[in-house]
Amino acid sequence: QAKVKGRDTLCFFDPAIQAALLTSIHLERELRQALALKQWQLYYQPQVNVDGKTTGVEALLRWQHPERGLVSPGEFIPLLESTGLISEVGEWVLEKACYQLARWAQYPEFCHLTVSVNISPLQFQDADFVTRIKAIFERTKAPLQRLKLEVTESLFVEARDNARDKMLELKALGVRFSLDDFGTGYSSLMYLTQLPLDQLKIDQSFVQRVLTSSANAAIVESTIVLAESLGLDVIAEGVETQAQKAWLLEHGCHAYQGDLSGRPVPVDALEEQLVSVQH
Ligand code: C2E
Ligand code: MG
Ligand code: MG
Ligand code: MG
Repeated sequence: QAKVKGRDTLCFFDPAIQAALLTSIHLERELRQALALKQWQLYYQPQVNVDGKTTGVEALLRWQHPERGLVSPGEFIPLLESTGLISEVGEWVLEKACYQLARWAQYPEFCHLTVSVNISPLQFQDADFVTRIKAIFERTKAPLQRLKLEVTESLFVEARDNARDKMLELKALGVRFSLDDFGTGYSSLMYLTQLPLDQLKIDQSFVQRVLTSSANAAIVESTIVLAESLGLDVIAEGVETQAQKAWLLEHGCHAYQGDLSGRPVPVDALEEQLVSVQH
C-alpha cells in the first residue's frame, strides 16, 4: 500500500493499476517458465477452397498452462512481444511447423498441404532474422514452396525498407508471404506496391459483417478486386456461416478459413478429419 509522501514523490496508489502490474509481472515469470519447459502446442486450422477441399492450414500457437489449461495467444503474445521473448517462441513455432510440413510431404494424402505461420513484426527486426530462419529450413528440410509466412501491416509502418530486403531473401528460397488482418492496421496502401506479397487475408471483422453492413460488404468486395488487380491471392478468415461463404463465393473469393470449415485442432485430429473426408 502506497502512502502519500508529499509533493514530487511518484507512487502507485491506484489499486487497479497496481493489480494489473502485478498480474503482468506474474505472467512474465510464468511465460519464462513456459519457455524453459516448452509448454507450447501448435494447433492447425484448415484453409479450404470452393469444393470444401483443404488446401492448407494455419499454425496457431497455444500455451498448455499447468493450472489454467489451454491459453489463447491473444492473452500472452502481447507480453511475449513487449519482453522480447517472442523471437524465441516464434522460432519454436516455425521449426515445429516446418518439421510438420516436411513430414506431410511423405504422405500422398497430405503432401499437397501448405502451412501458414504467423511472424511477429518484432521477429523481423532481429538483425539475424533471415540467418536463423534459414538454419531452421536446413534443419527441417521443409518444402519451402508450401510455406507461407503471415505478416501484418504494422511491419511496414515500423521497418519498411528492412522488411522488404528480408522478404526478398526468403522469397528467393520459394517462401510465400501473406498479409494477415488486411484492412485493420494504420498503414497506407502504398506498401502493397512496394512489398513482395503473395496473398491478402481479409480480416474476420469485415468477413463477419458482409451480410449485415453494406459498408463492410463494400470493403470486402473492393479488397477482392484489389487483390485480383494486383495479382495476389485472396483468402477470407473467420468465415462462420454458409451465408457468409456463399456471399464470398458470389463476389469472387474462393478460399476460406473459419469455424465453418473447421476450428483449430491438434495435428492428430486434423489428420483424422482430412482422411475421413476423403473416404
Ligand atoms: P490470426 O493470425 O488472424 O489468426 C486467426 C484467429 O482467428 C485465430 O485465433 C483463430 O482461432 C481465429 N478464428 C478462426 N476462424 C474463426 C471464426 O470463424 N470465428 C472466430 N470468432 N474466430 C476464428 P487464435 O488462434 O486465438 O490467434 C489469435 C492471434 O494470435 C492470431 O490471429 C495471431 O495474430 C496471433 N498468433 C497465433 N499464433 C501465433 C504465433 O505462432 N506467432 C505469432 N506471432 N502470433 C500468433
Ligand atoms: Mg494469421
Ligand atoms: Mg488474421
Ligand atoms: Mg490477428
